Amino acid sequence: MSALDERTAPVGRNDVVAQAARRRTFAVISHPDAGKSTLTEALALHARVIGQAGAVHGKAGRRGTVSDWMDLERARGISITSAALQFEYGPGEDKAVINLLDTPGHADFSEDTYRVLTAVDAAVMLIDAAKGLEAQTMKLFAVCRHRGIPVLTVVNKWDRPGKDALELMDEISERTGLTPTPLTWPVGIAGDFRGVLDRSDGSYRRFTRTAGGATIAPEETLSAEAALAREGDAWRQAVEEVDLLAATGADHEQSLFLDGVTTPVLFASAVSNFGVGALLDTLVGLAPAPTGLADADGTTRELTDPFSAFVFKVQAGMDTAHRDRLAFIRICSGVFERGMVVTHARTGRPFATKYAQHVFGRERESIDVAYPGDVVGLVNAAALGVGDTLYAGRPVTYPPLTTFAPEHFAVCRGRDTAKHKQFRRGIEQLDSEGVVQVLRSDRRGEQAPVLAVVGPMQFEVATHRMEHQFGAPVELEPLPYGLALRTDEASAPLVSTARGAEVLQRTNGELVAVFGDKWSLRVFKEKHPDLLLESLVAAQL
Ligand code: GDP
Repeated sequence: MSALDERTAPVGRNDVVAQAARRRTFAVISHPDAGKSTLTEALALHARVIGQAGAVHGKAGRRGTVSDWMDLERARGISITSAALQFEYGPGEDKAVINLLDTPGHADFSEDTYRVLTAVDAAVMLIDAAKGLEAQTMKLFAVCRHRGIPVLTVVNKWDRPGKDALELMDEISERTGLTPTPLTWPVGIAGDFRGVLDRSDGSYRRFTRTAGGATIAPEETLSAEAALAREGDAWRQAVEEVDLLAATGADHEQSLFLDGVTTPVLFASAVSNFGVGALLDTLVGLAPAPTGLADADGTTRELTDPFSAFVFKVQAGMDTAHRDRLAFIRICSGVFERGMVVTHARTGRPFATKYAQHVFGRERESIDVAYPGDVVGLVNAAALGVGDTLYAGRPVTYPPLTTFAPEHFAVCRGRDTAKHKQFRRGIEQLDSEGVVQVLRSDRRGEQAPVLAVVGPMQFEVATHRMEHQFGAPVELEPLPYGLALRTDEASAPLVSTARGAEVLQRTNGELVAVFGDKWSLRVFKEKHPDLLLESLVAAQL
């Protein structure tokens, strides 16, 4: 057997199954400012991969975190790009492997978050104890429901004054439709966080503060009697409330959690590392391990089948010194070995995986072998686009990633006509990365494509990168559209005659009709009920 045959042959069943079973691949999601970056860093700190919190590099105005890196991000103090962090967690030899995928919090980048969510098996929803459910929280819960992703909820910032815990539970069940099943319950009201009652055994996990929260919070476990003696009324109240929860059926049941009916809840203070260990234990104990995935035809590619993966994110210029292009893949089946040559399903061409890396923020290291659930960054992956499948052995293509319905549109023109090559290259790049959607028409021509986005900040990123990364400064002329729908060849000629509408084409050939607003669309549809005008998956999910 040649080396290549060995790599494409079915892998050792036990090995890949056992490796997949150890893995927990999830994303932390939240409305901006709920503490996602802080929690991400606290999780990493807990797993002892980076030592002191915030030691990696600084960010204007506050402590830097490992997951924030781009200039624009730092200037604005927000996370735009996603990264993946891998670490081992647990006692003894049999450690779990945690793959933590970071997501941008800002609503304008919700499509990026959505793509990351296609690559995870579970999500951790972070809620600010004082603010409760916010706009982006609601959207993200909806996305998870739509994708069938089980959600663990963490009520964060319990060290600060906030809402009443029972009220927060009511808010979750009323507004998301999920039944919250708290695993821990706070002792002490928000702002007076003393610890949590562990509902699994009724014990008290008492926290002790550390300076600045920069080390793992020491935690002691006390019996119920000791807790009562120590905390008095605060403990009594927690016990009463927990009894109330039990009476209303708010107990964890694994199958209901996996089916997206319930969401286990933990209380935490990410900034002081309170509750972070409990979150990791819960992820290992309850979050699902990777399983076989349905391909575009609905056939399951089993974990033990030969290697397969899909690209959920493409990114250029992460390393300003190298101006490279990185494709992030999520491994779905088989074993990945650096150097193996796999097939790019869309083109049928071979793809060499010589440069495979773990990537988190600016940190990179080579990766030699990876298993289902793992995320691998492939360097110089110019041929790969978002949603593409890679495989070895028996061919497979995973379903395409959903594109959101854009809501803002602008014509993009180069400010320097001598730079048309750079302009074209930049536009192509932004399109395949999914930074913006690029729409074209014969009428507008190659030099004036229409950029379409879900949130206007995507325009900012595109303009910034066209100028600074591709050397092609551009100007954007906003178009008076607010709505995009799928249409087809047969309907296009008539649709393009509609007042205030236009038909444009995506790079993959799909036709998109854009309208000013839903009123003009409704008027047109009433006149022409037979034309194809169907909704793209909306950002309003
Ligand atoms: P992100 O936008 O969701 O990534 O939020 P960040 O992690 O950047 O946190 C936003 C702000 O909340 C920062 O000033 C954090 O220091 C603060 N923060 C995060 N977690 C906690 C917490 O548990 N307690 C308190 N008091 N502040 C927190």
